[in-house]
Amino acid sequence: MSNILKHDHNIYKIIISEDELKNRIQELGRQITRDYKDKKLLLIGVLKGCFVFMSDLIRNIDLPCEIDFMYVKSYNKSTVSSGVINIVKDLSIDISNYDVLIIEDILDTGLTLETLCKLLQTRKPNSLKICTLLDKPSRRKSSIYADYIGFVIEDNFVIGYGLDYAEEYRNLPYIAVYNQNT
Ligand code: 5GP
Repeated sequence: MSNILKHDHNIYKIIISEDELKNRIQELGRQITRDYKDKKLLLIGVLKGCFVFMSDLIRNIDLPCEIDFMYVKSYNKSTVSSGVINIVKDLSIDISNYDVLIIEDILDTGLTLETLCKLLQTRKPNSLKICTLLDKPSRRKSSIYADYIGFVIEDNFVIGYGLDYAEEYRNLPYIAVYNQNT
């Protein structure tokens, strides 16, 4: 196991290990490779949380593909998503001829992705699907679902492997529950 931040008391419990992440992402890559054969695949990463997952995922996709990124922020006063989004960074290409696969770190209420999908649909991609590393279905407040899911998790605030708490912990090589009682 990695020693990164081993003694940080805010890391309550590791719930997905490096090996589990690696194995599941290989499976997702194989599935996407099968499904997108002969398609014009464009992976759109939703920053910032997607960056570690996406970089491992594309190295398991055995197809020609392109990537782009969007950085959106949900307008909110609390930790709960509002679904109203502020586009901090938009795409740099026209997606109208692409089979778009959105890459997300975690699907929580779904409100951010619901708004983002509606926006991307107006740009007329060939197809639009969602791949999320983590899914917290118990928190869903929209009808949005992911076509590819790495792991379904319980309602805990998680960190690591790209996911942050106040911009820290993205460098953990595993997924852990954040200790909110410290
Ligand atoms: P929602 O689906 O509620 O609109 O928002 C999803 C976004 O909220 C995710 O992309 C992520 O940035 C953030 N989020 C939701 N749950 C968690 C969590 O457990 N840990 C972290 N680090 N971010 C989360």
